[in-house]
Amino acid sequence: MRKRCTCRICKLSRRIKSVRESGTMRQKNILIRDLSESLFNTEHDLDWHQSVLNGSWPQAEEILTRSLVSARKIREEYVGHERT
Ligand SMILES: [Zn+2]
Repeated sequence: MRKRCTCRICKLSRRIKSVRESGTMRQKNILIRDLSESLFNTEHDLDWHQSVLNGSWPQAEEILTRSLVSARKIREEYVGHERT
């Protein structure tokens, strides 16, 4: 038997399929509530990330500066591994 992926998206996909095919009305309502909350949170996070990236968020410069330092460090460490 093929092993099931346990990532968040695959687990959610299995839950949606199961509830859609054989869930009770209560399970369907709970699923819709959970999906609505997830969508709201994702949209909220996306708005924030876009505001930081386009510079309109008040602390965008500090956040991006820290991210750039982190990105350079990660890249240097990665290159270091490639050379050994
Ligand atoms: Zn997966």
